[in-house]
Parts: sequence; structure tokens; C-alpha cells
Amino acid sequence: MRAAVLFNYKEPLKIESVEISDPKENEVLIKVTATGLCHSDVNVFVGATPVPPPVVAGHEISGVVEKVGPGVTRVKPGDRVISAFIHPCGKCRNCVTGHENLCETFASVRLKGTMFDGTTRLRLKDGTPVRTFLGGGFAEYAVVHENALTVVPSDIPLEKVAVLGCAGLTGYGAVNEAKIEPGESVAVIGVGGVGLSVIQLLRASGAGRIIALGTKKWKLEKALELGATDVINTKETDPVKALKEMTGGGPDVVIEAAGTSETIQMALDSVRIGGRVILVGLPPVTAQIPFRVASIVRNGITIKGNYGGRPRVDMPRLLELVRLGKYDPTKLVTGKFKLEEINEAVKLLEEGEAIRSLIIP
Ligand SMILES: [Zn+2]
Ligand SMILES: [Zn+2]
Repeated sequence: MRAAVLFNYKEPLKIESVEISDPKENEVLIKVTATGLCHSDVNVFVGATPVPPPVVAGHEISGVVEKVGPGVTRVKPGDRVISAFIHPCGKCRNCVTGHENLCETFASVRLKGTMFDGTTRLRLKDGTPVRTFLGGGFAEYAVVHENALTVVPSDIPLEKVAVLGCAGLTGYGAVNEAKIEPGESVAVIGVGGVGLSVIQLLRASGAGRIIALGTKKWKLEKALELGATDVINTKETDPVKALKEMTGGGPDVVIEAAGTSETIQMALDSVRIGGRVILVGLPPVTAQIPFRVASIVRNGITIKGNYGGRPRVDMPRLLELVRLGKYDPTKLVTGKFKLEEINEAVKLLEEGEAIRSLIIP
């Protein structure tokens, strides 16, 4: 099959013929319909998330089940599915206590780019193993663990929901973690795929004022269209001062979805006394920020990191919100590209000129 393979960091992907083996225990072979391109993929391409090449990325996968491995019970051949970027083992302590987004087994292989057994299902013609990053959806076929998958109801088009796999699930997890009370003011920093999902889900959850912060005018306009009540262009306005003025002391909740040191600092500086900061944007693995601990203590600030959502619990709920029209993932899609055109899509994302591009093999 054809796949977009990264051979060296910071080099363009190459479309290669790659061999794929049958799914092993609890694994599923999917024929890919569409896969969304996310910043986390680009972090792998540039080496900021150092999964060893050769590697195939792509973790917002939609497709049709082609074949199932031994022991698979959640899906059958012919099912239309989406894959979450989190692949829970279903057996570790976090999985059995309801926190499968923090699966310890998955965490141990995530950056190695292998399946749970430490091996890969892809290899080059000469036998070299090819790793996958969170699924390997930039290819004609992908093998993933069954617990990552959710069957898509027949009345929802597959391509429409590909971006639920990361942007949707991460947005859902953030809003869930923030435990929004009706009417609370929320600032959302970052208006990419995750930020725009958060905004839609905040509106669905009864949040009060929803203030979107970003640097691109067209993305801020999209935020207004999707439920933000106010926007702040952080290039033109002092965001911390503006947030404090607009909300009389700072938002009750700040959801940070941009994942840079600067925007994380912005979140900590702007939240109101007693407020909550939810960090969902993923900075490069080496990023560190200094912060004034005394003000966190005195102001009783909660800082909570949140990683994705629970595929088997949250994904069906998210699909229901799509069906009800309360969350529209198509609003995140700014372009469609063939597998051969993937490097163009990567360039657009790096330049900030895309939200989600769908890669169609
Ligand atoms: Zn687990
Ligand atoms: Zn992602």
C-alpha cells in the first residue's frame, strides 16, 4: 500500500510503497477514508516530538474496518469507524478506573511508535520496520487497537467526523475537565482545531461569555461564528489586561489550547482569583516556563493538564452532539488533499493558514 513516510526530521514526507501485516490480537485493520492533519503530526515531522523515523503519522482517522484480529469484539469488517488518537489497553489501572485517556500501557509505547507488543505492523520492502505515530493514518490502510475505535452511525458521513479523533476528543476532554457551571466566563486561548472545538462545546455546555484569543483575523471570525461572544487579537491588544477588563477581574476559567510558553503564561496571568486553568495545548517536550508560585497559592488557582478524552466513553457522546448539530466538525476543515499532496498541507499548517486539512488516500 501507499503511505506518506517521514525518513528524516525536517525533510518532506515521501510517498512510499509499504507492506502492512495482518492485525494481531485486539487489533483492527482499517481502510482509511480520510485523516486530519494536526500540529502534533508536524511536531513529529520536525523532531519536536521525537518518534524515530521511518514513521507514518496521522491520528484523526476515519475509515472502514477491513479485517479484525483475534479477540476483537468492538467492531466487525464493514463497520464505518473513527479512531481516537488515544489507544487504551483497557486493562491498566487508569483504564479500569475510568481514566482511559491516561492509559499507562499506551503511554509507554506512544513515542516509540509501536503497538503494545513493541513491534510495528508496517515495513519497507527491504524489511525495515516503519513506526506509526498514534495510528499511522497517512496511508491507505492502518492497524490500530480496537479500543481506539468507535462505530459511526449510518446517518453521519465518515469524512465529516475524521477530526473528532483528536481535535474533537481533546476539546471534549477540556470542557469536561473544566466542569463549567452555567454562565461562567471562559477564555479560550488558541483558535485551531482544538480551540474551535472547545468553543462549540462550551456553547453546548451553557458557558456564559466565551472569549477567544488568537493571532489570525480569519480564525477569530470563525470563532465568533461558532459560539465565541468576544474575540481578542493578541497581536493587537494586551490580552491579560483586556481579559481582566472584560470580565471584571479575569475569566472564571481559561482553557489553553495553543501550547506555547507564552500562551500558557497568558493563561496563568489572566485567570480570576479562585479560577481554573486547563492546559490542553501541547508544547514541545522540552518547553518550561517560570511562574510566580506565590500568586498561584494566594489566588487559589487550579492548574490542570488534560490529555484528550476517553475514546469509549466520550466519543459516542461527541458523535451524538454532531448528530444534534451542537458540534460541527466540518467547520474545522479548511482543505482536502490527496496523499501525494500532503507536504502542501503541512506547509499551510506551519504557516498558520489552515485549521484542519483532510488527507484522502
Ligand atoms: Zn490502559
Ligand atoms: Zn492531534
